[in-house]
Parts: sequence; C-alpha cells; structure tokens
Amino acid sequence: MGFRAIVVDKDADGRTHAAVREIGLEDLPEGEVTVAVEYSTLNYKDGLCLGPGAGLVRKYPHVPGVDFAGRVEASSDPRYQPGDAVVLTGWRVGEAHWGGYAQKARVKADWLVPLPEGLTLARSMAIGTAGLTAMLAVMALEEQGLRPGQGPVLVTGAAGGVGSVAVALLATAGYDVVAVTGRPETAAYLTELGATRILPRDEIAEPIARPLESESWAGAVDCVGGAMLSRVTKQLKYGASVACLGNAGGLDVPLSVIPLLLRGIRLIGIDSVLKPFDARQRAWERIVQDLDMEKLDAMTRRVGLAEVPALGAEILRGGVRGRILVDVA
Ligand code: NDP
Repeated sequence: MGFRAIVVDKDADGRTHAAVREIGLEDLPEGEVTVAVEYSTLNYKDGLCLGPGAGLVRKYPHVPGVDFAGRVEASSDPRYQPGDAVVLTGWRVGEAHWGGYAQKARVKADWLVPLPEGLTLARSMAIGTAGLTAMLAVMALEEQGLRPGQGPVLVTGAAGGVGSVAVALLATAGYDVVAVTGRPETAAYLTELGATRILPRDEIAEPIARPLESESWAGAVDCVGGAMLSRVTKQLKYGASVACLGNAGGLDVPLSVIPLLLRGIRLIGIDSVLKPFDARQRAWERIVQDLDMEKLDAMTRRVGLAEVPALGAEILRGGVRGRILVDVA
C-alpha cells in the first residue's frame, strides 16, 4: 500500500521540484529497520535539500528530512522490535539517504536511538537535530569550564531553531543570555525564552580590522559563522570558548589569531551528524532534564507535509522563527 512523501525531482534543465507524492515500500532504500514516521522537522539543511541540494543530495528522486520520530514497523535487528518508539537525527539521512518527509522510512539500526524517556514523539521532533545540536554546544562549553555566574553568554542567530533552543537551555541552567538577532520583532519572543539582552545583528555582523575588542562574553554559541564568528572571537573574555556549529551567515571566517594567542580563547567545533551513540544518548538525557517544555512548546509551530517546501525556502532566507514540527502521519 502506498504512503505520502515529499519527493524532490530534478528536471532535464537541472532544476529541482519538491512535491508531496505517493510512494511504496519497494521504493525505500535498504536498511534493517522500517519505521512508521509520525513526525519530522525543518532544519536549515532541510531547506537546502528541498531545493537544489547544495551538493548534499547525491541522487534524484530524493526524499529529504534530516530527522524523524516514529514507531518501528519491521526490524531485522535484535535491538528493535515492532512498536518501539525511535528517534533519528543525522547520519546524512535526508541528504545521502532518504529521510523523514515520508510516512515510512528505512534506515540502519545503528542510526536510531530509542525515544528518550520523558519525551513524546512530537516533542522529540520539536527538539530535533537543532535542539540536539544546541545541547551538544552547551555541553561542550561546560566541558571547557563554563559555569553560570562567569558573565554573559552570547547566542548568535538566536531566533532560529538551534539558537532558540540554546537560549532556552542556557537561561534555564542559570546563565545570563545575550541573544543576537537580525529580527528586532523577535525581541519579546527571545526575552520570553530567557534572554536578558537583545543585541542587534548589525552591531556584530561586519568584520573589523582591530584584532581585539572589549572582553564581553564568558562563552558563545555561534549559529552564524562568517564575519560574525570572527567578531565573537575578538569579544570573548580571557580563556573563554565559542561553540561553532553553523554557517547561516557564511562559510569563510576572517579570523585573526590574536584572540587565540593573547586571550587563549578556544573555538570548539560541534558536529551532530556523526556523533557516536553514547554521546547522543547523554545529550538527549540532558535535554529531558534541562529543557523547559513550556518554552519548547512556545517556540514550536506544527505544520503538515504540504507546507514544508515553501518553509524550506523561507528558512534559507532566515525567515523561520524557532522550531517547525512536521506532522507526517
Ligand atoms: P535557522 O535558519 O532556523 O537559524 C539560523 C539563524 O541565523 C536565523 O534564524 C537568523 O537568526 C540567523 N541568520 C540567518 N542568516 C543570517 C545572515 N546572513 N547573517 C547573520 N545571521 C543570519 O537554522 P537552524 O537553526 O536549523 O541552523 C542554524 C545553523 O546551524 C545552520 O547553519 C545549520 O546548517 C547549522 N547546523 C549545524 C549542525 C551541526 O551538527 N553542526 C546541526 C544543525 C544545524 P536571527 O533572525 O535571529 O538573526
């Protein structure tokens, strides 16, 4: 029996088109576990894969969706039984492998984690790849010694998906959070999530020649990259770290080594895609423990599959606020 999926096709002129279509189990790629998908989500990378693919998608037709949550329908792996609630993020699912924008998905058992205790399937995807990455960033800063009371912690791209979860997590953990946004209209929203100050993007977006600025931040979660990351390094306090996880503002960073040499600041790369199973589980456990679910609900908008292609274009324009939960079932 057929089921619904967003399929991206490429025409003879090389243009891609995303549309909801019916496909069958026989169309799915190989894998040990078939999952009846209930929810997926929209991340920046989904925006890329719903469009021309930015080199991430290798073969068309393609089913995007970098994460999903659902129930096991069939499994040849002893770790999973029919009915088990599971979550998938990363492993290039939705890019190199068909993903979560379909009512069924077939994947490797190694890529799944059991639904963390204390979460519903819907909330696990309201969190999704973005929320997991925000948690990994906060944990990485704490591993470098960050603690509440050391000074303000900066979050760039704050009104986006990763940024919103990072603001909520840090604020709930007792940090003084300063949110950088290019959308002044999100100020009340970010304050509601726990930011104590809003910094307009313009104030920190342009590169400057000076190698150091005033020491302002005890740590930073950077979703933007580009010139903004360079400015963040110049403004960190002595010995502080920035968790670098995104490139919404550019891939190339005009970096001076002076903040590293004179202030011992540290750039910590965050990858959620190939994060090993144990580290993923630890991050999910911390999310259950630390994320305020009322804040999560307040930052989440629920949509159906048909709305996703247009929202994919919107997220690439920096126009999506918080998290988008995709109700696939
Ligand atoms: P969103 O689009 O939801 O958030 C990105 C935010 O960045 C926007 O909301 C906007 O925030 C800001 N922004 C957008 N364009 C620019 C620009 N040109 N200059 C400055 N700021 C800009 O995306 P996600 O939250 O899903 O992802 C954020 C980033 O993290 C992406 O680059 C994504 O690829 C990356 N990522 C990395 C992962 C990893 O494992 N390392 C995993 C998940 C995501 P505002 O309007 O508030 O300024």
